[in-house]
Amino acid sequence: ETNDLYCIGCGAKLQSNDPDEAGYIPASSLKKQLAADNNLFYCQRCFRLRHYNEITDVAIDDNEFTALLNSLGKQNALIVNVVDLFDFDGSVIPGLHRFVGTNQVILVGNKADLLPKSVKRSKVTNWLQQQAALQGLHPVATLLTSAKRLYQVDELLAVIEKERKGRDVYVVGTTNVGKSTLINAIIKQTAGQNDVITTSRFPGTTLDQIQIPLADGQSLIDTPGIINGTQMAHYLSAKELRYISPQNELRPRVFQLNPPQTLFLGGLMRLDFLKGTRSSIVVYVENNLLVHRTKTATADDFYQRQRGKLLVPPADPEQFPPFKQHDFHTKEPQDLVIAGLGWLRLPANSDYRLFLPEGVSYSLRTPIV
Ligand code: GDP
Repeated sequence: ETNDLYCIGCGAKLQSNDPDEAGYIPASSLKKQLAADNNLFYCQRCFRLRHYNEITDVAIDDNEFTALLNSLGKQNALIVNVVDLFDFDGSVIPGLHRFVGTNQVILVGNKADLLPKSVKRSKVTNWLQQQAALQGLHPVATLLTSAKRLYQVDELLAVIEKERKGRDVYVVGTTNVGKSTLINAIIKQTAGQNDVITTSRFPGTTLDQIQIPLADGQSLIDTPGIINGTQMAHYLSAKELRYISPQNELRPRVFQLNPPQTLFLGGLMRLDFLKGTRSSIVVYVENNLLVHRTKTATADDFYQRQRGKLLVPPADPEQFPPFKQHDFHTKEPQDLVIAGLGWLRLPANSDYRLFLPEGVSYSLRTPIV
């Protein structure tokens, strides 16, 4: 019955099925608004924006996102790309460097509040820049923020002001990097006096953008997020995902290992320490995630008996991709980074066998602690 109804805020076709999709209106609100009989319908997202100056996420498909990026590439604008410090690989927008063209990019690594105090912020920034360069992105500035704790948000605004040179600012990011939280923080800081936040369409798409007015008549524009489907996140339930995503500052956990010994992180990954001298491995993952040490000789058997039981998540290993092996050697101490999960600090001069669900990526970096 909502077939011909559109939100007058963003133009999205109204639907009551999926709260995460564009144009969502709860069935009860729709009923009320229909009864009012004035043909003024707002989707839930626009309703919240109008009444609470607060934005929420919508998921969009790849084609729409490509159209959005295309229209972005045609503007003369400053681009702010927000990524999740704990899931860089999952935060990458494929091909972003091609779309931004000659426009400048500010790279924002969000969720910095989760990093332990012992982590050197400058090392993280360097690492982020290296990762961006691998994607062909060369940001004019790189910042570490916490949208949640309002850490470095003022600084970000100052850098935006310095770099935008009279242009509009577009904020882009995949879902779950904290873009909405960051935009809401920015709204609170900037739009207080003239809170005329508006929505309009991206040319050539059905997607809405949210415009936050800047002092000189230009706008800061929030774009919808895209889902990057290459991560661990893809294979876990929403509940399990919340469980492995760090919520509080990470507490380093130290394990003394005598090779050959094995560490399991729930049933999500397995690391065999095959060769090297007795050393400690420091694990930086969600504080409640089980880290279990065992002898490598019995690890296969242990995994078969305990997967889905002691070794969770995933609760249902049958629905999880099979483990794939990766062998590597460390010459220097290295951080083993698992996108979406965290990292392990490994000692030098050792041999490892890593087991990860097929499709999930890992990388090695110079330690950041
Ligand atoms: P979006 O999909 O990019 O708009 O992301 P959201 O703003 O909806 O945030 C996704 C999740 O990350 C939520 O659970 C937020 O509470 C959390 N989050 C956002 N910003 C931060 C941050 O700076 N630190 C931490 N620890 N969590 C954050």
